Amino acid sequence: MKKKIKVLISACLLGDNVKYSGGNNLTPELVTLLEKYNVKIVKICPECFAGLPIPRVPSEILGDKVFSKDGRDITEEFLKGAEISYIIAKKNKIDFVILKERSPSCGSSYIYDGSFSGKVIQGQGFTARKLNEENIVIFSEENLKEIEKYLEKLNKQ
Ligand code: SF4
Repeated sequence: MKKKIKVLISACLLGDNVKYSGGNNLTPELVTLLEKYNVKIVKICPECFAGLPIPRVPSEILGDKVFSKDGRDITEEFLKGAEISYIIAKKNKIDFVILKERSPSCGSSYIYDGSFSGKVIQGQGFTARKLNEENIVIFSEENLKEIEKYLEKLNKQ
């Protein structure tokens, strides 16, 4: 039998209420795509792994650190969340990753600029950075066409 494709995914994209506000980022088109290819899903929420509560104060990256909106340095927590996410990716031998864009953990191309003013800049969240360093293929939920192309490619292998 053909091996199932395994994908590591930000849990909030699948409707888990784990984001800082207590809500989620459910992306129905992504769920449909994953169902179409009968993908095995491994869910992560790096900020939950770090022990941060739900809901929590929002946070943004500034330089090499992460700060919550009330001024606390929570860099260590974010490093922990990234490390645990990587361990899970490795243990599960995942084929690739889909991460929520613009999050200080999961953003893979864009993040907020650290001023809590809604300004977006190019950059990566801590977990995306760690997985990228480990040469894991990363997509965001904003690149569904590319995800489908990649799923097609894996399906043919
Ligand atoms: Fe979603 Fe990632 Fe934020 Fe968790 S850390 S709520 S998975 S974007």
